[in-house]
Amino acid sequence: MPPARFTEILLGGLAPDGGLVVPEHYPRVDAATLARWRSLPYADLAFEILRLYADDLPAAKLRAICRRTYTAEVFGSDDVTPLVELEPGLALLKLSNGPTLAFKDVAMQLLGALFEHVLREQNRELNILGATSGDTGSAAEYAMRGRAAIQVFMLSPYGRMSAFQTAQMYSLADANVFNIAVDGVFDECQDLVKAVSNDLLFKRRHSIGSVNSINWARVAAQIVYYFKGFFAATRANDERVSFAVPSGNFGNVLAGHIARQMGLPVSRLVVATNENDVLDEFVRTGRYRPRAAAETHHTSSPSMDISKASNFERFVFDLAAHDPARVRALWSALEREGQFDIAGSAEAERFAACGFASGSSTHADRVATIRATHERYGVVVDPHTADGLRVARDWREPGVTMICLETAQPAKFADTIREAIGAEPPRPAGYEGIESLPQRFERMPADVERLKRYIAERTEALPSSVDCRWRADG
Ligand SMILES: *Cc1c(COP(=O)(O)O)cnc(C)c1O
Repeated sequence: MPPARFTEILLGGLAPDGGLVVPEHYPRVDAATLARWRSLPYADLAFEILRLYADDLPAAKLRAICRRTYTAEVFGSDDVTPLVELEPGLALLKLSNGPTLAFKDVAMQLLGALFEHVLREQNRELNILGATSGDTGSAAEYAMRGRAAIQVFMLSPYGRMSAFQTAQMYSLADANVFNIAVDGVFDECQDLVKAVSNDLLFKRRHSIGSVNSINWARVAAQIVYYFKGFFAATRANDERVSFAVPSGNFGNVLAGHIARQMGLPVSRLVVATNENDVLDEFVRTGRYRPRAAAETHHTSSPSMDISKASNFERFVFDLAAHDPARVRALWSALEREGQFDIAGSAEAERFAACGFASGSSTHADRVATIRATHERYGVVVDPHTADGLRVARDWREPGVTMICLETAQPAKFADTIREAIGAEPPRPAGYEGIESLPQRFERMPADVERLKRYIAERTEALPSSVDCRWRADG
């Protein structure tokens, strides 16, 4: 594709040929800059990093947006992502103190503010359509609630989310948030979203967009806390750290890879999966084999139950030394044969230099890790973070702090916590009794025409002659 500016790809999604958008290069951060960044508060660090990618936003504007987004009110502390030491050489980076208690808030809150700004500048409106099985949808709703020129239509499977997740979403009273409870499973919700998005005329007339995990701005926003974690765990820039990352769509750990490419002194990037071990298999063998839906396990770390890592293509573009023809060849093989293998190729050599390690866990590992972490350190972790800690154990090195990313709070996954420690998980202040708040949602059969009618009645249709600059996305 011809090069596009940051704000253009912020609202759009896929490139015209269906590929993902990537920066032309990763800016290198020199030693003096790293030293200067060490003492910055989170919001200003976010500004310094994001401005390297968001070069068509005025600096003052971007700084103001970062400062409004990354506050103690929204994220619970001035640190935003505080580091907690479990024992010397092992720490948790707490990414889940945002409004929906999962790490997706860190990027999504910024996305909400960026969207609002750009839409205002362009005098446009955006109707976000998405499907959720729990975490992403609520993060999107809390990021977009009450914002001008944005409405959210979020589909969720009726009666199939945890009581906590349901309450989090359905208790929102904002006029720009529409919860649609579909009689069906998550995949049917996803299919409805695809069906609406494939109707390009409808999509254009009703300014439909999305905030799914392939959004480049979300990846960019996640780079920031890798730097923050490094500064919090070290005293000088000649030290190194490793990160253990509970992984599903490869979005979070991709941000870690980019941070490392930018010059952050990272020893290992440890990819931790659950029973859905597509990524673990790739790191160990070089073979990438996405699983069929029927082969995808429903696990007790459900936000990592993926069959196909949607951000992985961005990483492979790096491994292919930014040769689009090579990426296309690999993805053609994927379509033809259902897998590709980089073993023995130039990609494998480059991969070896990227510092990756990996492992997977089972339900029993998860429960044992939650219990042991509670007994040893007096800390309760959620099942996803437990997968990270379990795999992290195998990859520690003397003199290098292993930072495990905490991706959600245990309160969201009470069943597994009860099984592990025989007690209710701690619930943060402000979330007591949310299950008994009044709930607001529209229950609907899995019917595309019905959904389109619902959206059409609540959005202003543009004349069909309007040329829309936003392209179709996932
Ligand atoms: C989304 C999510 C993950 C996986 O993150 P990816 O960026 O998709 O790899 C892990 N843990 C939790 C709690 C999540 O919500």
